[in-house]
Amino acid sequence: MKITFWGAAREITGSMHLIELADGFKILLECGLYQGVKEELYVKNKSFPFDASQIDVVILSHAHADHAGNIPNLVKQGFRGKIISTPATFDLCAYILTDSANINENDAKKRKAKNNKTPLQPLYSQEDVRNTLELFHTAHYNKWYTLHPQVKFMFTDAGHILGSASVTLEIRENEKTTRIGFTGDIGTENRLVLRDPVPMPQVDYLIIESTYGARMHSRKETAEEALLRIFNETCIQRKAKLIIPAFSLDRTQAVVFAFEKLSRIGKLQHVPVYVDSPLATDLTQNVFIKYSDCFDDEVIAYFNQNHNPFEFDRLTYVATKEESKQLNKLEGPCVIISASGMGDGGRVMHHLKNNLAKPENTILIVGFCAENTLGSKILKKDPPQLEIFGDTIPILAHTEQIDAFSAHADQSELLKFIDTQDKNLLKGVFLVHGEYQEQLTFKELLKKHNFPNVQIPAKGEIFEINTLNHEQN
Ligand SMILES: [Zn+2]
Repeated sequence: MKITFWGAAREITGSMHLIELADGFKILLECGLYQGVKEELYVKNKSFPFDASQIDVVILSHAHADHAGNIPNLVKQGFRGKIISTPATFDLCAYILTDSANINENDAKKRKAKNNKTPLQPLYSQEDVRNTLELFHTAHYNKWYTLHPQVKFMFTDAGHILGSASVTLEIRENEKTTRIGFTGDIGTENRLVLRDPVPMPQVDYLIIESTYGARMHSRKETAEEALLRIFNETCIQRKAKLIIPAFSLDRTQAVVFAFEKLSRIGKLQHVPVYVDSPLATDLTQNVFIKYSDCFDDEVIAYFNQNHNPFEFDRLTYVATKEESKQLNKLEGPCVIISASGMGDGGRVMHHLKNNLAKPENTILIVGFCAENTLGSKILKKDPPQLEIFGDTIPILAHTEQIDAFSAHADQSELLKFIDTQDKNLLKGVFLVHGEYQEQLTFKELLKKHNFPNVQIPAKGEIFEINTLNHEQN
């Protein structure tokens, strides 16, 4: 069999790896979107380097767009096989892919309005998404399933977002059994809401993410301690507004739960908290509460007491655009949690526009912000003023970042995760989903720890499995 690394190869988006058996059976691990600068993305995402109709099955580790977001395009181009995910990932995809089709259709219209040329077609439509959702089959954690007479697979909890899984494939070829592991994205330990990542079964070859291959998370404060400090400084001492750009999936729910805990111990002091993102509201109220068994013990205890961990007295989920606009007129301190997490797009742009120029307010970033996004410019205060919806807004508000909400394992946690594998049985390690410089650092670390045959595949690089030598390279 062979593996070709078609995406998230020496970069962090567009996750997609193809496993081909000698009999022609083709398994696609993920089908994610490339994310970044918009025009060049359309071209990168539009076509596949293989015939979509020839893929037999897509196995999906989790619902993030850089892992799942291009599946409707694969379906549009002829894929009719099975899509395998956990039940929670399937439910999340129903909302996230629909939202993505909406954004795609709106972007295509805007391109037309802007340059008055023939519009670029949307990458995929609502109909493509509906066709995609019909192809899903779900599988539970810690249970082996047969995919093909020669292929079994098992999901284990990756602790990254709701429903996230690592994938272990057991492939029988030429009377030899080979296990290939794919970590998906690995979560951090002791995070709010989710369980810790679960070690994978022993494999022969491991494809491991390496987002934080060269970095450690700051452990000065827990997420809750940092949130309470910033809330007190902003809303209690300065009686001002705390604006939190947050991704609709995962980050919003973690931040809401942190506020619920502060509310429970009487620390919120009557300050209202608003979630202003229709997608975040849908995911929280329709998906998260359905999977109460997917969470850590603390959250399960809430559910067991018939208490919703994503609700508390002063929390409001804002529904309509009108209600969202009303937040601009609010007097006094409040917290507004709104998407997107990087500040580019979504209702949060209005809140940034209205609150950035007031020195008493705080903009709190709780996730990763890519270069050149509004979020990264706000953190750097470079440039010192921003163009938002045609107005120039100076960045005078306080800016803060909390690292402890991160959904990705850092270097020490990645090493701990891979260290559960017996190095004498492991024949090769492939680093994916990381910036190349970080991957080189992580590769050196793995070599120091005697991991065999560590590779950093380039895009399109093919590896014949079982002919890789076992020497260090
Ligand atoms: Zn992810």
